[in-house]
Amino acid sequence: MGSSDDSYNFVFKVVLIGESGVGKSNLLSRFTKNEFNHDSRTTIGVEYYRGAVGALLVYDISKHLTYESAERWLKELYDHADPHIVVMLVGNKSDLDSHRTVPTEEARDFAEKRDLMYMETSALDSTNVESAFNEVLKGIHKKVA
Ligand code: GDP
Repeated sequence: MGSSDDSYNFVFKVVLIGESGVGKSNLLSRFTKNEFNHDSRTTIGVEYYRGAVGALLVYDISKHLTYESAERWLKELYDHADPHIVVMLVGNKSDLDSHRTVPTEEARDFAEKRDLMYMETSALDSTNVESAFNEVLKGIHKKVA
């Protein structure tokens, strides 16, 4: 805003949703600042869906309940957001593979059925964080271009 340079061509609003504690804040800080924080804070509100063209629906691969709630988050999203919104299902905390309770195949099948993109990430060790955001941005760009 108020910038006179033209170093970007598009501004897209992307929201991160999912249960508390799955790593949304850390995915964002890893992507934007390459930082990781160990303490957690919660964000609440539905207004934030307005104008969003992309969403990362995040669960924790080591907490099956956070995956089971994906369906509910998806409904909430489609109730409040643009129906053409690009959504990626994101299984975060892939570094906790030894504590995994959500098999990759199960999540991938669910994503395919619901026409979502899918990726596993780790905000802790950085795996796939940039790719996840970039794939969503590419998906959005494809739709608007
Ligand atoms: P949010 O409530 O969804 O925003 O989750 P936070 O980003 O606040 O993270 C919740 C907790 O999980 C914090 O203690 C983080 O340090 C931890 N956490 C977040 N991402 C990862 C990850 O990729 N791997 C591991 N092992 N812990 C993570």
